[in-house]
Amino acid sequence: RAKDGGRGVHFAYEPSLHADAEERRQLEFSLRKALEKDELLLNFQPVVDANSEQVVSFEALVRWQSEDHGFVSPGKFIPVAEDTRLIVPIGTWVMQQACLEATAWPRGVKVNVNVSPEQLMEPDFADTVVDALTRSGLDPQRLEIEVTESIFLGDAEIARQALAKVMALGCQVALDDFGTGYSSLGYLRKLKFSTIKVDRSFVQGAAQGSSESLAIVRAVVAMAKSLEMKTTAEGVETEDEASLVRRMGCDRIQGFYFGRPMSSADARSLFSDDFSQLRA
Ligand code: C2E
Ligand code: MG
Ligand code: MG
Ligand code: MG
Repeated sequence: RAKDGGRGVHFAYEPSLHADAEERRQLEFSLRKALEKDELLLNFQPVVDANSEQVVSFEALVRWQSEDHGFVSPGKFIPVAEDTRLIVPIGTWVMQQACLEATAWPRGVKVNVNVSPEQLMEPDFADTVVDALTRSGLDPQRLEIEVTESIFLGDAEIARQALAKVMALGCQVALDDFGTGYSSLGYLRKLKFSTIKVDRSFVQGAAQGSSESLAIVRAVVAMAKSLEMKTTAEGVETEDEASLVRRMGCDRIQGFYFGRPMSSADARSLFSDDFSQLRA
């Protein structure tokens, strides 16, 4: 293992910076082989209707069980994948797996798939979506792509066109982590997002009595309603948070309170027990 390679040579650098860069290099090295080594898998987290509490969708969340590094969280490896463009093949794999898995669920249940800016900028992004839909046979209306505001930091027109193409297929597009990034509201006029996902930081703040967070959630919900978009409250962990966002008019709720990200088998089993819902 090259773990200690170069130690002592770079003594002039700040040690923690060096360790950081070195760790990223190691992750990149292993991530390059993760797909062929079959080390990636998807978990699925339920999104429920705020009023009926029925599962309306699952968000696909990628997991990496690395031979070299053990479990690595997406918060750690997704940025590396984005910087190295490894997110392009990984994202294609995620799209295919997620669409395929969704065909095992009742037809009323959608799948949400995260897409990074680097993926959207690929000229054939829409083709990879068509391919995943065709191979799986999933109805395009059951696929909702999640993007963050950061897609508008680069070439916003390319991003808009790529999303317009998948919308033309019948897919939906959600704006993830809303309010945490670069929030120019102009693009809300140019793209018909189906859903705005209210970031967990606002949900948490509001539940802790922050009047600023409360005001922001209220304003986002009102804005979404007048734009005919749905809202999903992210990161709801407690009953109090759930009832608060429901009272504030969020349409959907996602978070540990209703369900953690789970294996595909566990997600399927939610529909096959005696209490199954949304059959047919
Ligand atoms: P995200 O898209 O905003 O996904 C929601 C994250 O919040 C997930 O973290 C989920 O496990 C976590 N979460 C859900 N409910 C709760 C809660 O009640 N409390 C708390 N504390 N956390 C909650 P995860 O799975 O670690 O993913 C982190 C981020 O990595 C995602 O944020 C997304 O930006 C990115 N990501 C994950 N999978 C993919 C993927 O397949 N492709 C791309 N491009 N990005 C992905
Ligand atoms: Mg997401
Ligand atoms: Mg999110
Ligand atoms: Mg978030």
